[in-house]
Formats: sequence, C-alpha cells, structure tokens
Amino acid sequence: MQKIQNYIGGELAEPASGDYLDNFEPATGEVYSLIPDSDERDVNAAAAAAKAAFPAWGATPPEERFEILMRLVSLIERDLESLAVAESVDNGKPVSLARSIDIPRAIANFRFYATAAMHTANESYDTSLPGGGKAINYTMRHPIGVAGCISPWNLPLYLFTWKIAPALAAGCTVVAKPSEVTPMTASMLSELCIEAGLPAGVLNIVHGTGPKVGFAIVAHKDIKAISFTGGTKTGEEIARTAAPMFKKLSLELGGKNPNIIFADCKYDDMLATTVRSSFSNQGEICLCGSRIFVERPLYDRFKNDFVKRVAALKVGDPADPATDVGAIVSKQHFDKIMSYIELAKTEGGTILTGGYALSEPPASTSGGGSLNGWFIEPTIIEGLKHDCRTNLEEIFGPVVTIMPFDTEEEALSYANCVRYGLSATVWTENLSRAHRVAASLESGIIWINCWLLRDLRTPFGGVKDSGIGREGGFEAIIFFTEEKNVCIKL
Ligand code: NAD
Repeated sequence: MQKIQNYIGGELAEPASGDYLDNFEPATGEVYSLIPDSDERDVNAAAAAAKAAFPAWGATPPEERFEILMRLVSLIERDLESLAVAESVDNGKPVSLARSIDIPRAIANFRFYATAAMHTANESYDTSLPGGGKAINYTMRHPIGVAGCISPWNLPLYLFTWKIAPALAAGCTVVAKPSEVTPMTASMLSELCIEAGLPAGVLNIVHGTGPKVGFAIVAHKDIKAISFTGGTKTGEEIARTAAPMFKKLSLELGGKNPNIIFADCKYDDMLATTVRSSFSNQGEICLCGSRIFVERPLYDRFKNDFVKRVAALKVGDPADPATDVGAIVSKQHFDKIMSYIELAKTEGGTILTGGYALSEPPASTSGGGSLNGWFIEPTIIEGLKHDCRTNLEEIFGPVVTIMPFDTEEEALSYANCVRYGLSATVWTENLSRAHRVAASLESGIIWINCWLLRDLRTPFGGVKDSGIGREGGFEAIIFFTEEKNVCIKL
C-alpha cells in the first residue's frame, strides 16, 4: 500500500515517529494509502529547513522566483489528469469537477502569484513641511520569513496552493500542512517541486493531524505568519495560540451562505446556477449557498422545478464522467451531515427530496471496488424557521433549506441573522435593488446573478465569524511581508 511521505529540506522523508494513519477512499470506505502521523519533531525539522532556506529565497529576484514557479505550473499542467484522478479518489468528488475546477485552479494560483510578485508596488508620498521644505515618506516591504500554511479537505490542491503560492512569490519559505483527510495531491506536489528544482527547504510539507502537526506549526516560534483555511472552531484555537506571539494571521473560516431569489430574476439562469451553488462538490464548498430565500410569488414554481432538477442529479461513482454528486469526504463528516438531517426533522422541517444515504449504490467503482462509501442524496428541506439550528449552523454537505419571504427587509434579516459572513448570492434584474441589497448583506463576497465567479486580483475573505485577513490579489502577497515606513527629509 502506498505510503505518503513528508517533504522536508527538499527530500521525501518518513515521519519521526515511524507511524502512519489510514487514508480512506470515500467512495469505497476502504483504506487505500497511508499518511505520515507526524508530530512536533517533523515540524521542527521542517521549520529549521525553511529558516535555513529563507535568506537565499528571500533575496532571490522576483524574476527568478517567477521562473521556478512557472516550471511548477508546467509540471502540474502536464500531470493534470493524474492529479485530477488522485483528487477524486482521495476526496470523493466527481473526477469531472477535479479536472475542470480543482487542478486548473491550482495551476492558476501558481501562475497568478508567479507573475503578481513582479508587479507589486510600494507607496511613496511627497510631504510638504510646515514652514517650507519637503520630505518623502515611503514603505519598504520584506518577506516575513517562514510562513505556516494549513488547509482543509474540500478543495485540496486548490486551497493548498492558494496559500503556498503567494507566500513563495513574496519570498517567504513555507511549512505547510494539507488536511489529513485528503493528503494525496499535496504529496504529488512535493515530487513536482523536486522536479521543478525548487531549492531545498523553500517549501516543506508535513502530513498529519491538526492537533499534532497543525498545532505545532501555529505554536512554532520561528513561523511568523499563519495562513489558515478551515472551520471557525479551529480558527478560534489557532488565534488563541498565535495571538500572544503576535503572529500575522489570515483565517478563512466557515460559512452559512444565503441565496436570495427575487421574483424578477432571470429564471432559467437562476435555477441552473442554484442547483450548482447548492450541490457542487457535494455541497462541500465553503461558498455554497445553503439557505435559499425565495420571494413569495415565485416560491411554488421554484420549489417544484428545483426539487425536480435536484432529484435528477446523478449520485454515484466519482470516476464516472456522468456523476454529478460524489461521495462525502469521510465517515465522520457523513455522520455529521446525517445528524443535521435528523435535527431538521425534529425542528419541523419537511424533506422535499433526498434525506437519505444513497439508497441503491452502484455496483462498483471504475477501479473495481464496491461502492460501500459515504454517499448522501442531495437534500432539500422546507418548513423551517430562519433561526432554528439547522439554519444557523454550518452543515457543509448536500443539504439546503428553502423558505419564502415577502419583503426585501425580511430577506435581509433572514440572511444576516447568522454568525457567519462568508458569501451571498442575489438574483434580481432590478439594478437599484441589487446594489441596495449587496450593501446591506453582511458577507465578504456577494454574487449578483452568478456564483463563484472571481478575478484572482480581487481580495477574498469573510466577515463576522467567517474570518479575518484577506487572501487573493496583491493583498495575499502583502500579507506575507512585513513593512517598514521610512521618512526622509530632503
Ligand atoms: P478543520 O478546521 O477541521 O481543518 C482544517 C485544517 O486545520 C486541517 O488541515 C486540520 O488538520 C487543521 N487543524 C485542525 N485542528 C487544528 C489545530 N488545533 N491547530 C492547527 N491546525 C488544525 O476544517 P475542515 O473540516 O478540514 O474543513 C471544513 C471547514 O473549512 C468548513 O468549516 C468550511 O467552511 C471551511 N472552509 C472555509 C473556506 C474559506 O475560504 N473561508 C474554504 C474552504 C473551507
């Protein structure tokens, strides 16, 4: 059975403990590879390698960093198909999605930051002094040193590279930890880094659990900045550990995103996109809209059509190109989602479609294994109050609730009543209303008449308990720097 290795100081390495964890294939529920059960010793080795590599990498001209990162881009492009298959097996997502979204986005992340590093600029101000004379104030930015990057399982290579690429582009060296639930493509990336000639120690990847490896990264005194994507509760723990050390923190956390549909929307676009924004990647995208509010005149028509479309989604073998909805990433997450479906029933919800684990599993995966993994039918629930637990807590699976509203104010009050503020979607052809509602929504990113469209130059991040700091755009490069402000009297 394949044993994944850590990547420390430019080499693949066994964990110090010599112990390994099981890595499950979600579609079959079977162990298919082993993950290093690393601990503080491996993180210390990785941090030492990163610290040693920093002076040279930090001083490497952006043009040279560009060349190396672009070699990595070419290698990921070359291996797109094998990476997509690995991502699908590891995560349970349809291979078509890994092929069209996850791996292309990992490529785009490295490409964007390779070029962006050459186009960042620092501010400079001419100042007139009282009584005459001038001064120039300017900002110098230096890479902060060793950065820690910790990512979740839902978009494994996409989010892993989203953190690593700006750190490397900024001139930082990195100690990174992918989710222990989906380690495979990060491990393939290690091998591509070696092939691309990334200098030893510039990127170090330590596999293992959050409490052991993640905590050791956050607590390490030589790791100056932490870029984390994951759950809000984990974000709280990270902030508690990092704050007394005054580390720079970017926390991209959970969501419970509203999708507000007004009766004047372009109906067909809205319906097709709402199916995607609800159930893509089994609803395991932090930006999926899980609370759908529909203006009352449209409610019955929407409900009927939405239920019909969703019931027709094909749930099954992630390797089958016709599959719309694959397997849930782990047994633990499967149990959590199913418990929320039960909770919704006790809270008075009516299941309109779904609500069950896959009732008739397809006979076998394309690899020949039996599909005894963790599948949940896309589930639509109505009849719940906007402030019940099902509607306030993040489920992060193929479960959405729908409910009607009468006024714009009512829709906004429903949308904003949660602790989260990651993203929101609004469907209307009324331009003034679109702007008005966008201004009042408590969300870090708002899509009007679309979903998941984003120029990588736009900073990204949630508000409220969905996070602090911004990723994306030039801001992500700036995050990995520290600044000095200089004033010189002329
Ligand atoms: P998680 O918080 O359980 O784990 C995320 C990562 O943190 C994993 O690598 C894990 O091993 C590590 N970790 C766990 N405990 C840790 C600790 N004490 N110290 C340091 N690291 C620790 O999240 P998950 O279940 O992997 O992912 C799902 C969550 O991620 C959802 O809440 C989802 O909304 C969120 N998410 C947010 C965004 C965003 O951009 N805001 C994007 C994707 C996912």
